[in-house]
Amino acid sequence: EKYHGALAENRKLFNEIQELKGNIRVYCRIRPFRPGEDDKSSSVEYIGDNGELVLSNPTKQGKEGGKNFTFNKVFGPITTQDAVFKDIQPLIRSVLDGYNVCIFAYGQTGSGKTYTMMGPEKATEKEWGVNYRALNDLFNISHDRRDTITYELCVQMIEIYNEQIRDLLGSGGNTIQPNGLAVPDATMCPVTSTSHVIELMQTGHDNRAMSATALNERSSRSHSVVTIHVRGQDLKTGNTLRGALHLVDLAGSERVDRSAVTGDRLKEAQHINKSLAALGDVIFSLSQKNAHVPYRNSKLTQVLQTSLGGHAKTLMFVQVNPDVSSYTETLSTLKFAERVSGVELGVARSNK
Ligand code: ADP
Repeated sequence: EKYHGALAENRKLFNEIQELKGNIRVYCRIRPFRPGEDDKSSSVEYIGDNGELVLSNPTKQGKEGGKNFTFNKVFGPITTQDAVFKDIQPLIRSVLDGYNVCIFAYGQTGSGKTYTMMGPEKATEKEWGVNYRALNDLFNISHDRRDTITYELCVQMIEIYNEQIRDLLGSGGNTIQPNGLAVPDATMCPVTSTSHVIELMQTGHDNRAMSATALNERSSRSHSVVTIHVRGQDLKTGNTLRGALHLVDLAGSERVDRSAVTGDRLKEAQHINKSLAALGDVIFSLSQKNAHVPYRNSKLTQVLQTSLGGHAKTLMFVQVNPDVSSYTETLSTLKFAERVSGVELGVARSNK
């Protein structure tokens, strides 16, 4: 009975993975109110069990009320990091079977992107975000499989700011060019344990902070990409498999009032708009099975080219700040997500 139970569980996981292949899934996550925020003024009116979400603006009567959305899943404000991770675990594990997986966090600044991907500052193990949990899980499984497959894991960390790619693990955070499909010039660090990874992430974090602008401001205006490369060798057949997991904390999606900013801020805003739009366009044109997929329109989509479309699996966390003062931004976030959700990604045909 136990055996059949395990078999059924495996089949369920297998089906989930098959279903994810070539598709984008969109998971909406609503962060809790923070101390000092008015928890009576939520714009989230309803969360259903099947991914339904109703957004409303309680400060306006009538016509502004009740906009309906449906995503693959909606996580309410009390969902723990652990519960979120359990849900995406099959996807992450498939990297060890040779898949390319891309996980994004999208939303305005302060909506919980970094919390989901990394965890809060000085996170306890319970608060760990997807990054640490994913690596921990990959280490554990590769250890379990050591009699049949030997795995090597390497980590790269880059930041894309104003369409410039910076290596966060190299000494001094060098600027680099995307070299074809991935970013092979960025420093690749072989990793063997979670504690080692925590150390590396700290290095990446410090390198990011070395930039001229204060970290908090800067980090919301750059995309950060952590890539875990997996190479496995089957001890029996000698075959090699390769997979990659990209964990992307996107720049804040808030629209900047163009009349109010100039100079550097305006340039940053334009770059962010351009690259987030390019990401949306790539996913959209994959869904349409267009011959031309505009990967080249931004550094972000160039870097992720091999992990978007085809047999790659994509998941986007759409992050929501429930405060009613964010209503307009939340609405545009959810509209972006709706455009990219539920669409089947066709086999990617590179426009090279
Ligand atoms: P972003 O990366 O989108 O700018 P953050 O991840 O920095 O947003 O989140 C903003 C604040 O809200 C942080 O103080 C963070 O710790 C807190 N926060 C976000 N999501 C959650 C959550 N699910 N549970 C508890 N606190 C959260």
